[in-house]
Amino acid sequence: MIALVSGGSRGIGRSIVLRLARDGHDVAFCYRSNADAAERLAKEAAEHGTRVTATRCDVADGDDVRDWFARTERELGPVDAAVTSAGITRDRPLVLMPEDDWTQVLRTNLDGVYHVCRAAAFSMSKRKSGAIVNLSSVAGVHGNAGQANYAASKAGIIGFTKSLAKECGPRGVRANVVAPGLIETDMVGEMPEAVLQKQLKNVALGRLGRPEEVADLVSFLVSERAAYITGSVFEIHGGGTF
Ligand code: NDP
Repeated sequence: MIALVSGGSRGIGRSIVLRLARDGHDVAFCYRSNADAAERLAKEAAEHGTRVTATRCDVADGDDVRDWFARTERELGPVDAAVTSAGITRDRPLVLMPEDDWTQVLRTNLDGVYHVCRAAAFSMSKRKSGAIVNLSSVAGVHGNAGQANYAASKAGIIGFTKSLAKECGPRGVRANVVAPGLIETDMVGEMPEAVLQKQLKNVALGRLGRPEEVADLVSFLVSERAAYITGSVFEIHGGGTF
């Protein structure tokens, strides 16, 4: 299988790249700026004996994504699985939120998913087979104070993916959402410690999730074991109440 992963250089995306390579898949991942981390990851993932490519590509830029997708299919072959993990936060109460923070988050998180999924759905529909997994967030399902922009983008991903599942199901393409809670990555590292500790009190398992635990779920969803699952949202949050 050939898998495409956006935002693979760090955090959850990085774990997904490693897990899919370990599963025996060829993986093409993209990153925005962290070239050193991407290069190290490509080498580490390739140790599983599959082909792994790293490409600098801004998912907010449609031309960039089209070039990355075309290059991947030229170099590795038709993409069977697409996972969108690229995402950013610009947290602030709405009344203090500059338009730029709104726009940047929507362009990266939601437009980025549109660009990747459009390319993937087009290619997969032609071959009548494929699986898409989009990373949303519990903030998109339940809302979160200080994250109106982020929550809007992540809620948008859910409506988008459910629609895609209905459109592409008859063509043999599945699309699902994974909505994580608090996962131990740089993104959560940016949260003030006091806010993090307060939120952890609402997590039944009392700890942050590990990126590998999200990658396990993604690995299952892109596999044939999930052949009858599409249009679904999977929350993974250690029993959190939000
Ligand atoms: P990180 O901040 O750790 O990593 C983000 C990744 O996305 C990096 O690889 C980064 O590349 C890449 N990226 C960011 N912007 C772009 C862009 N414009 N184009 C291409 N790549 C980009 O995030 P996480 O791993 O924590 O999050 C992964 C996904 O999971 C996100 O969609 C996030 O919203 C979601 N999520 C995370 C949660 C958490 O608790 N961590 C909870 C719920 C959802 P580079 O290294 O070059 O900057």
